[in-house]
Amino acid sequence: MPTLASILLMLCAPPFVIVLWYTNVALGGSLLSLWELCSREGLFTTVYAVWRPVMFGTPVAWMILGAFGGLQLLLMRVVPGRSFHGPVTPRGNIPVYRANGPLAFAITLALFWFGAFYLRLFPPGIVYEHFGGILGALNLSALILCLLLYVKGRVAPSSSDTEHSGSPGFDFYRGTELYPRILGWDVKQFTNCRIGMMGWAVIIVSFAAKQSELHGLSDSMLVAVALQLIYITKFFWWETGYLRTLDIVHDRAGFYLCWGCLVWLPGVYTSATLYLVNHPRHLGIPLAITILILGATCVMMTYLADRQRQHVRATNGRCRVWGMPPRIIRARYFTETRDPGQSLLLASGFWGISRHFHYLTEVLGAFFWSVPALFEHFMPYVYVTFLVILLAHRALRDDRRCARKYGQDWERYCRLVPYRIVPGLY
Ligand code: NDP
Repeated sequence: MPTLASILLMLCAPPFVIVLWYTNVALGGSLLSLWELCSREGLFTTVYAVWRPVMFGTPVAWMILGAFGGLQLLLMRVVPGRSFHGPVTPRGNIPVYRANGPLAFAITLALFWFGAFYLRLFPPGIVYEHFGGILGALNLSALILCLLLYVKGRVAPSSSDTEHSGSPGFDFYRGTELYPRILGWDVKQFTNCRIGMMGWAVIIVSFAAKQSELHGLSDSMLVAVALQLIYITKFFWWETGYLRTLDIVHDRAGFYLCWGCLVWLPGVYTSATLYLVNHPRHLGIPLAITILILGATCVMMTYLADRQRQHVRATNGRCRVWGMPPRIIRARYFTETRDPGQSLLLASGFWGISRHFHYLTEVLGAFFWSVPALFEHFMPYVYVTFLVILLAHRALRDDRRCARKYGQDWERYCRLVPYRIVPGLY
C-alpha cells in the first residue's frame, strides 16, 4: 500500500509547484497575498483557477520542452566521453554510462546564448515568459513517464535490479527499476542530470535576461545566478560522482525521483531567482562580493566532502585526508545474493565532523543564493526551507540504510562520529 505521506505528496506537490510560480509572477511573491486569495475564493477554487490555463502546457511550452529534451537526448548520445562504470548493484550488475556531462553542459549554455543573443531566434527571457506552461507540460510528461516506467518495470525491466511491492500505487510512487534504460538512454541520468540540473541552469539564465530587459540587471541577480551556476558546473564536473550517490544507487525510478527532478527541481529550486526578476535589489559591491565568496566557499566545501569519501574508497585508504592518514572503518556487509562485501567508512576529514556534514554546506550554499533577495517576503526561502527538511530526513534515511547494511560496523562509526549533520545539535 502507498503510505499516507506518499499519497499526499503525489496529490499536493504538482499544484504546489504551479501555485508557487503563480505567487511569484502574479502576486509579487507574497505568500500573504496568496493566503488572502485562498481565504476569499477558497483553496480548491484558487488552485483550479491558477492551474487550469497551464494544466496541459501551452503550444510554445511544448515546443520549448521538445527542443530542449531532444537536444539533451542527442547530446547524451553524440557528445564524446569515456565509459564510466557505476558501482556494483545489490544484484551484481554494473551500469555503464558515457561521462560527457561537462561538455554537454557547456554546449547547452553556448547554444542558448547563441540562439538568443547572436541569432536572435528567440527572446532570452523566453523561459520566464512561458514558465507556467512549461511547468504544466513538464508535469504532464513526468506523470506519463512515471506511468510508462511502472509498466516497463512489470513487462520489460532493463536489469535484474527490479523490485515490486505488490501495490501499484506504491510502485508508481517509489519506482520499480534501479537502472531503467529506454532505447539505450539511461532514464535517471536523463531526468536527473540532463533535464533537471541542465534545465535549472537555462531557466535561471533566462530569468536574469528577463530582469535585465524589464528593470536592468541587478547585482543581487548576478550574485544569485553566479552562485547557482558555480553549483551546477560543480555538479556536471562531478557528474560521475553523482552517479554513485543515493539518488542513483538506492532510489528507484518512480514519481519520487523522476517527477521530483523533472518538475519539483525546475519549479522550486529556481523560485528564489524567479522572485528576483521583479524585485531587483541593489546590494552594493562589498555585500555582493561577500555573499558570493561565502556561497562559493560552501559549494566548494560540499564538493570537497563528496570527493573526499569517494577518493578514500578509490585508493582503498592509501591517501591522506587533510594532511594525515585517514581514519577508516572496514565495514562488512552481505549483498542481496548473500555474497560478502566490504566498504571503507571514512571517520576523519569532513566525515569525522559529522556523518553528513556536507548537507550543512549544501543548505548554506542555497541560503547564500537566496539571501540576495533580502527579507521583504518569505518566498526566496521556500527552497532553503524545503532543503533543510529534505536533508534532515535524508540523513535519517541514510543512517537506517547503512545500519541495516553494515550492522555493528556502522554502530562503531556512529560511536566515533555521533552527530548526523550539525555537531552538538543533530
Ligand atoms: P552521500 O554523499 O551522503 O552518501 C551517502 C552514502 O555514502 C551512504 O549511503 C554510504 O553508501 C556512503 N557513506 C556513508 N558514510 C560514509 C563514510 N563515512 N565514508 C564513506 N562512505 C560513506 O549521498 P547523497 O546522495 O545524499 O549526497 C550526494 C550529494 O548530493 C551531496 O553533495 C548532497 O549535498 C547533494 N544532495 C543535494 C540535494 C538537493 O536537492 N540539493 C538532495 C540530496 C543530495 P555505501 O552504501 O556506499 O556505503
